[in-house]
Parts: sequence; structure tokens; C-alpha cells
Amino acid sequence: MKKVFLASIVCISIASCGGDSKTTKTKTVADMNPQFDKYKEQFIENLWKIYPGWASSQGYHKYDTILVVPNDEARAKEVAFAKANLDSLKSFDVNGLNNNNKTDYYMIENQLKSTEWGINEQKSFEWNPSEYNVSGAFAEILAGNYDSLDVRLRNFYLKMYNIPAYYEAAKKNIKNPTVEHTQLAIEQNLGGISVFETDLQDALNKVKFGEHEKQSIEATAKQAVAAIKDFADWLKKLENKTPKSFRLGKDLYAKKFEFDIQSGYSADVVYEKALARKKELHEKMFELADKLWDKYLKKAVKPTDKLVLIKQVIDKISEKHVKPNEFQSAIEKQMPELIEFIKQKDLIYIDPSKPLVVRKEPDYMAGVAGASISAPGPYDKNGNTYYNVGSLAIWDKDRAESYLREYNHYILQILNIHEAIPGHYTQLVYSNQSPSLIKAIFGNGAMIEGWAVYTERMMLENGYENSDEMWLMYYKWNLRTTCNTILDYSVHTKDMSKEAALNLLTNEAFQQKAEAEGKWRRVSVTQVQLCSYFSGYTEIYDFREELKKEAGDKFNLKQFHEKFLSYGSAPVKYIKELMLSETAKSSK
Ligand code: ZN
Ligand code: ZN
Repeated sequence: MKKVFLASIVCISIASCGGDSKTTKTKTVADMNPQFDKYKEQFIENLWKIYPGWASSQGYHKYDTILVVPNDEARAKEVAFAKANLDSLKSFDVNGLNNNNKTDYYMIENQLKSTEWGINEQKSFEWNPSEYNVSGAFAEILAGNYDSLDVRLRNFYLKMYNIPAYYEAAKKNIKNPTVEHTQLAIEQNLGGISVFETDLQDALNKVKFGEHEKQSIEATAKQAVAAIKDFADWLKKLENKTPKSFRLGKDLYAKKFEFDIQSGYSADVVYEKALARKKELHEKMFELADKLWDKYLKKAVKPTDKLVLIKQVIDKISEKHVKPNEFQSAIEKQMPELIEFIKQKDLIYIDPSKPLVVRKEPDYMAGVAGASISAPGPYDKNGNTYYNVGSLAIWDKDRAESYLREYNHYILQILNIHEAIPGHYTQLVYSNQSPSLIKAIFGNGAMIEGWAVYTERMMLENGYENSDEMWLMYYKWNLRTTCNTILDYSVHTKDMSKEAALNLLTNEAFQQKAEAEGKWRRVSVTQVQLCSYFSGYTEIYDFREELKKEAGDKFNLKQFHEKFLSYGSAPVKYIKELMLSETAKSSK
């Protein structure tokens, strides 16, 4: 065996030597882009046929009347679609694709493999009953403004037909579900019934349909509601003596991490990095809190426990915040200030022709988040991008006070950096410059969140609101992201108990009890998603530091940012690969 092996190595080296001297051909790679562009178009058309609900949510309304019944046949179709397209992808030489198409290629491939894995290995359609819920899709039809209410209501009507069959299939699929997902499914399905009752009635009152048509719609809606209630009842009574654990387990977790995050790091590595970061943050926070103690708490007894000391200083500093009725105007006022700072420090080009519209959070989103970005979907190119700000007007005094302490003078600025400039909003403007439907649909969450988290640190490093208080608050904010990763990984792969989780969040990450309880609930019904922020951030930050080290004085931060964002919402590992290969080319 050994001899044969050695012999073959020799052969290879001779062959390559000979090649160098005479027969070197510059291998020309065929331009695959026109062909690939055509393929992508066809791919998306077919994707929407398999996933009409997904299509509607992305603003593609051709299949709005179709509700897919989630049975064996539907899953077989999904798998066949994945297989056929994975085959089609093989006919393209990735080297013959431009950067935009290269990353699109990898993202399509990942999506298809993830589908296969989800159906064949993860099988959440068996153990997660909360996957079955129709109300969100129907609510979107009523809330949408892409077509007249008449048209939307008729689509709503036709789409309702399959609801009973949908829940019958769900009951057949469910085997040995987790208690947590069962509970969630009951709550969410019952909570969604109002869409088919009050919301639908409100809409029907606004149109001039004939009596007969109205009655047909109402009768179908009644059947839909009955099917939903029956499903919830069935779940409540389901005999489930040995429920599956909601913890994903090490192997499935590692794989899901690979598909969802698409990081250059494994889940284990990211976890280790998060642990190290937590330690580093605690040290830095203690240093600052200790320094700030006399300024804020001179008369109090200084605690010996470092974490307790940090917490007391944070609580004191949090008292500096805007008034409830000034929340939105404070955010609006900060936008031009952020832009001015970025210009002064030459951090990244901000396109002045695309201003961000700050608005009061629309009613249908109320309560979802204090502040969020709404971007137009991939099929709505001329839509505005909004910065939605929740109104505290109707909140009682205590709730508003606690919220404003959380989003105090310092954190509010970090939030604006994250959500708007140069975070999510700026990233969005750049990604729209290299339009890719694939990236708009499969956009990599870890890259998108990672960028926003990265900019928080970057702004402070460049002197934004440079004070000990700001840094301390930033570290607290960053600790949340860091501990989300530790929590997610520990709960799903290391059997972390609820008690230990709450201890981590309240004592080590300085969160309120209610926030920590909410996080526990979230980690018991989701997997991996909580890691996306820290994973993306770490990968971007590490990459920047690597480039900085290599380039030394020549490193240009502005160029790095603009180049990095020019690839769109692709996974960081591919952006890194492309950026490195381009610098290698240009330095030749
Ligand atoms: Zn206050
Ligand atoms: Zn974000």
C-alpha cells in the first residue's frame, strides 16, 4: 500500500513540472453568467410554485389563493425540487460566475440542502406543532396594500378552502411533539382566530359585495375557525407521555448552525469565542464601573462583588433618559447627527438621496418591538424604508419608565446606530446597489445582524460619544448579544437548566427578570437564531482585524466598509473569500 501511494505522489510532481515548462495552457473559463441569470429566474418562478405562501410574504402575489396542505405529497415535492435543482447547479462552473452570481450560487445550494436536511433529518414537522398556523398569512392579505381590498378579499376567500385539510394533515404529521411547541401552537392558533372573525368582518364592511357572496365568505370562515379550534383541542388532549425534549441536541444543532448561519466558524468555536468575550466584557465593565462609582454613588456602600457593583452603577446611569413623549423626536434628531459624525470621521459613504423615514409604528405592528426597520420587499423596489418607533403614549407610567431606563440616553444612541445608521438601514442601501433577488429572499441573517452589531463597536472605537458611561452601556448591550449565544448553545447542546439560564441572564448579563423569562421562552422554541448576532459580528470583526494587521498603515476603514457591503447580504465567509481573492489579484 505504502509503495503505491509514494509512487503516485512522484507521478503527480513530474506531471506538474513538465506542465510548467511547455504545455501550460491558460485555462479560459467560459462566461457562465447569462446562462446562470436565466437559471435563477426559472428557479425563483418554480420556487414560488412549491411555496406559494412564502411567495406572498415576499410580495409576489400570483399564488395568493393557494394554501398548501402539508402532507407527504407536499414534502415529496419539496425534496424533488431540491434534488433537481442541486443537479442543475452542478452544470455550472462556479469559476465562470461573477461575484454576485457566485454568492447567489452558494446561497441557493445552501437553501436546497437545508430543505433536504430539514425534511429528512430534523423533521420538525413531526415535533413542532407551532409550524402549523395559517392566521399570519391571512392577516397579511388583509393588511396588504398591493391590490384593491375587493381582490384581496376574494383571494382570502379562495385560500380559506384548504384550511380544514391543512389541519387534518397537521394532525397526521405530529408525533411525539415537545411540550413547549405544543403549548405555543395552542396559544398562537387560538390567538389568530380573530383574523377570521373581527378582522375579516371589518374588511367585509368596507366592500360592496353582494349578500350571497358575503354569506359564502362568512360560511367558509366559520369552517376555518372550527378547524383551528379543533386543532387546538386535539393538541390539548393529545396523549404524549414521553414528549420529545425541546433541546435540539449536539448533532442536529451543529448542522442547523451550519445551514442557518453559514459561518466560517463552527458552532463550538463561536461558543468558545462568546465565553471569552463575556469574560473580557466583565473585566472592562468592572474597571469602568469602579472608576464611575464615586461620581454616581459616592455615599453608598461599595459592594465587594464585582458584578453587583457593575449592576448598581448601570442602574444609576440608566436614570438619564428622554421623556416618554420625546422618544420619537429624540430618535429623529439623532439621524443627522449620526450622518455628520460618519462624514467627519470618513467611515463610510452615506447616500443622501435615500433618506430614512422615521415614523410612528403602524398599529398592526404595535407591541412587536420598540424600534425596527421596515424595508420594501424584493418586488416593491420603489417602496420607502421606514424606521418604526413604538409610541409610549398609552403605556402606564411604570412600564414607560422601565422601558426608558432600558433605552436610556446611551442605549438609545446605540439602538439608532444598530437599526439605522450605519447599521441595518445603511447596509440595505448598499445591498440594493447590487440587486439580487436571491439575496433579497435568502439574505443571510448572521451577516445582516452581524453588520449592525459590528457598527455599534466601530462607531464607539472612532470616538462617538466618547465617555466612560457610554462605553459601560455599550458593553452591557454587547453582553446581551454575547450571552444570547452562550444561552442558545448551552440550552440546546449542554442541557443547561432554566435556573442556570436565568442566573446567566440576570446576574451575568444584568437583565431584568421579565426580560430573562422572555428569553428563556424564546430559547425553548427556537434554535440557533439567537446566535446569529454574535456569530456575524465576530466574523466581521475578526476579518477586519486580520486585514488591518496585514495592511498596517495602508489599511483604510472606509474602503473596507464599502467593499464589504458591496457584496450584498451574503454570508460573511463568502464575502471574505471574494475580498481576499480580489486583493490578491490587485497586488500582483
Ligand atoms: Zn426616569
Ligand atoms: Zn438588528
